[in-house]
Amino acid sequence: MLIPITDRIKMVKASSETGLLVANSLLVEDDLTLLIDTGFGRENAEALKDFPVDYLINSHFHEDHVMFNWIFPEAELFVPQEDQEGISSRQTYIDWYGFQILGGQTVQDWIFEAFEWREYQADQVFTDGHKWKVGHTTIQAVHTPGHTQGHYSFWLEKERVLFAADVALTKTGPWYGNITSDVDDFISSISRLKALKPQVVVSSHRSLIEKNIDEQFDRYLAIIFEREEKLLSYLEKSRTPEEITAQKFLYGYQPAQLVQAFFERVHVHTHLKRLLNLGWIEERDGRYRSTR
Ligand SMILES: [Zn+2]
Ligand SMILES: [Zn+2]
Repeated sequence: MLIPITDRIKMVKASSETGLLVANSLLVEDDLTLLIDTGFGRENAEALKDFPVDYLINSHFHEDHVMFNWIFPEAELFVPQEDQEGISSRQTYIDWYGFQILGGQTVQDWIFEAFEWREYQADQVFTDGHKWKVGHTTIQAVHTPGHTQGHYSFWLEKERVLFAADVALTKTGPWYGNITSDVDDFISSISRLKALKPQVVVSSHRSLIEKNIDEQFDRYLAIIFEREEKLLSYLEKSRTPEEITAQKFLYGYQPAQLVQAFFERVHVHTHLKRLLNLGWIEERDGRYRSTR
C-alpha cells in the first residue's frame, strides 16, 4: 500500500504477514524512481514487481529490508559499504548475527527459510553523505550505526522528510541484537537524527510519524538507559550471562519464545560490552558484577 507524503515521496506500508517480519519502504517517483528497502511483504511485492525502479537502496543488511531485492533485476542496487558483506555473503551474515557463537542455529535456520534468504551482489556501495539526485528530489545517506555497523537513514532536506529505517522509534525500544551491534553507536545515531529536525519520520516498523518527533526520539533513547538501570542493579551480585538473559530486561517481547531467548542473549552480550568499556561492571570467571 502506498501512502503519499508529498507528490513525489511515498511510504510503502508493509503488508502484514504471519510468521514474517516486514518493513516499510520509501519510494521517490521523480525523473528517476528510487526505492529504499524491499522487505514490504508479499502483497506489496506482487503489486510492485513490474514497477520500473532505477535506484534500489538497502538501508542495512537485515533480511526484513532486502528480502525482495530480486523482483527488481533492472534496478541499480546500492548497499552500505559497511554492511555490504552481510548482504553478499551467507557466512558473513551468520557471523554478524552471532548465530554460531551464541547458540542461534535454530533461529538461523528459521530466518533462511522464512525469508527465502539469498545473497545479493551490489552494483555500487555508498558511505555517509552520499547523495542521489533524481530530478527535483535529493536523497542523502546518513550513517546511523548501532543497530548494525552499516545501518543508514536517509534525509530529504528540502522536504524535511527522514527515512529513519531501524532507528525505528518503536515502543519496544532500540534493537541491538547482533553481536556486531553497538549500543554507544546507537545512542549517537539517535541524537544525530533528532538534530536534523525532521517534519515527517518514516520508520521501518511504524506508521507515519508527524507529531511530537523530538519527544519520540527522547523517549526511544531513554529506553536504553532504563534497561541499563535494571541491568546494573541486578548486577549488584555477580551473575552469569544466562542468568541475566533469563530476566528479559533488554529485549524480551518477540512472540516466538525461541527467537526471543536468542536475541535477548545477544542484547545482553552487546549491552555488557558497553558497561565493561565504561568500567561500570567487571567480569570474573564468566560472571559479571557492578563496580559502582
Ligand atoms: Zn534491522
Ligand atoms: Zn527492520
